[in-house]
Amino acid sequence: MILTGDYHTHTVYSHGKGTIRQNVEAALKKGLKEIAITDHGPGHLVFKTKRESFFKMREEVDSLNQEYKDIRILLGVEANIVDYSGNIDVDQEILDIMDILLVGYHYGTRMKKWIDLYRMYAMNLFSFKKIRQLNSDAIIGAIKKYNVDIITHLGDRMRVDIKKIAEVAKEHGTMLEINASPNHGQLNFRNLNIAKDTGVKFVINSDAHSPERVGEVSRAMEVVKMARLNRKLIYNVEQNCEWKEDWEE
Ligand SMILES: [Zn+2]
Ligand SMILES: [Zn+2]
Repeated sequence: MILTGDYHTHTVYSHGKGTIRQNVEAALKKGLKEIAITDHGPGHLVFKTKRESFFKMREEVDSLNQEYKDIRILLGVEANIVDYSGNIDVDQEILDIMDILLVGYHYGTRMKKWIDLYRMYAMNLFSFKKIRQLNSDAIIGAIKKYNVDIITHLGDRMRVDIKKIAEVAKEHGTMLEINASPNHGQLNFRNLNIAKDTGVKFVINSDAHSPERVGEVSRAMEVVKMARLNRKLIYNVEQNCEWKEDWEE
């Protein structure tokens, strides 16, 4: 399958190694038609983008779009969920200048209330049934409140109800990410199988933190193959191929 776009890449604006231009050039080399620059929201304790930087990034992306005609560059953000009703760390003024919104649930986020800090850092460590429901409600809350394009690395280090989230995501046109970064657990084979039965759409992303990794999704492809995922369910692979991959159902 041929990847058409990579919608999750980081740059020096948060904790990536490359500049926006370097990520774009790497994407061009891989033959991608689209790339999204999606640094972290400002609410993370360590990996954060300064709020003012987003305006600068907007200008940079606009000017690079003028310069590079063979690729479309999108400005996005990987926003953090900051409470269990699904609020995120990006305000409306920033959302207004974004082309794409990714939402992730990350350890290390400054949760707004003490009770939520306890839930995130204590309850998640134990096998409490309750936290599975709280985590799921947080993600579902975000999907309902915002125009979320992609939920990143769902199920990474957090217990969640995949089926429930996938159903709501499908209803709202939100895609679930199959994340190729070695730093993340991801939609594993079992969860992918549960999610695909809901008809939700998936997107395969590198989550690159350096230009060399832009468009590098082999780790995600292993899961795609194992789950025999049909390409029609994947947003960013070439659809008009005459052949069918041998694993596709
Ligand atoms: Zn993330
Ligand atoms: Zn990321």
